[in-house]
Amino acid sequence: MDKSEQIFSEGKKYIPGGVNSPVRAFASIESTPPVIKKADKAVLWDEDGNSYIDFVGSWGPMILGHNHPLVYKSVVEAAGCGLSFGAATKIEVDMAKLICEMVPSIEMVRMVNSGTEAVMSAVRVARGYTHRNKIIKFDGCYHGHSDGLLVAAGSGVMTAGVPDCAGVPENVTKDTLTASYNRLEEVEAHFKRRGEEIAAVVVEPVAANMGVILPEPGFLEGLRKLCNAYGAVLIFDEVITGFRLGPGGAQEYFHVTPDLTTLGKIIGAGMPVGAYGGKREIMEMAAPLGPVYQAGTLSGNPVAMAAGITLLRILKEHPEYYKKLNETSDAFFGKIKEIIKNKGKNYRVNHIASLGSIFFTGERVLDYVTAKTADTQAFGRYARAMIKKGIYVAPSQFEAMFLSMAHTKEQLEETLKKIEEII
Ligand SMILES: *Cc1c(COP(=O)(O)O)cnc(C)c1O
Repeated sequence: MDKSEQIFSEGKKYIPGGVNSPVRAFASIESTPPVIKKADKAVLWDEDGNSYIDFVGSWGPMILGHNHPLVYKSVVEAAGCGLSFGAATKIEVDMAKLICEMVPSIEMVRMVNSGTEAVMSAVRVARGYTHRNKIIKFDGCYHGHSDGLLVAAGSGVMTAGVPDCAGVPENVTKDTLTASYNRLEEVEAHFKRRGEEIAAVVVEPVAANMGVILPEPGFLEGLRKLCNAYGAVLIFDEVITGFRLGPGGAQEYFHVTPDLTTLGKIIGAGMPVGAYGGKREIMEMAAPLGPVYQAGTLSGNPVAMAAGITLLRILKEHPEYYKKLNETSDAFFGKIKEIIKNKGKNYRVNHIASLGSIFFTGERVLDYVTAKTADTQAFGRYARAMIKKGIYVAPSQFEAMFLSMAHTKEQLEETLKKIEEII
């Protein structure tokens, strides 16, 4: 037994499944995880000293690579001034201002500690603002693990959402309606039937939690129009796409303006940070200004703010980094497509900017139903072999592959070589 196996099996005695977030257990590829000890730039090392080229990047935050010297320096400096005060600070004001400058639709923003908290809070504010209860979410989109969003697809527009998770009462999900991603007509049907009751539509502007699925032309624009027509709040969950598709996220990329935006992952540079923000009059619903209560002992934590603001400043000051990263990614995913074609396979590659997925299916993937046609057994064989050969890909067919600005040409070529060997 190597060290990773030893530590993981010890962990299973004290932590459910040995992990603090389920996907890390590698169950969906019927394997056990390497236990990670450290990381630098685009490389991870496990407890046994094996190295991996990292295509998970902590599920998104590491767009500059691990251990960026400026981010590291800012964290150490902030820590030297005290870890938390639970009081107003200058750095949280600087951070809020920077976010408002970078993300076009955000006029006011509130910091929280995770993406889950950001979406949960945004939904509450939207309900408080509209005095309505129902929300629409899309089948296969993930918005964190708050009760009301852990909903299985309804069997059509007549039915309310049902819990997708034990421990979630039906009462809590009865106001969550579901629609298929990219199916505007389903959203329209919900609005036609009960438009007066719908507080918000929450959507990943690029779906990245059922593998990567792009919005079809007109889909996001259509949601914007329907929300306008019925007075509902449009929430873009940009926890993945924010600062990933470009400095202004998906809303800037697609030129569609949501009312509220949720952020996470990159915003904390690897520290536990989330945020929700948007139109001033909606955000003014939040306490202490308004009647919607939302709070956090560690929200706006100075060390986390220091990490995040340093990363965001670098991204804001260097739009050319995105240009280069996105061009590199286009070429990389293009080559994966070529490899698949040359091998006579019909697998689908969905990709945008530095985010992509290989779907082990011949169907065009544009919603959860088509994503689920993927052969997860074949994906499991591929992912296990990749990790064994030192390429750390997400251990699930339904997660994205993340490129960073730290990946070198040589590392990407090596990765393509391994993909070619394995596929
Ligand atoms: C990761 C993610 C979340 C949840 O964020 P956590 O920080 O894990 O709570 C919410 N929405 C989207 C789109 C995500 O990818």
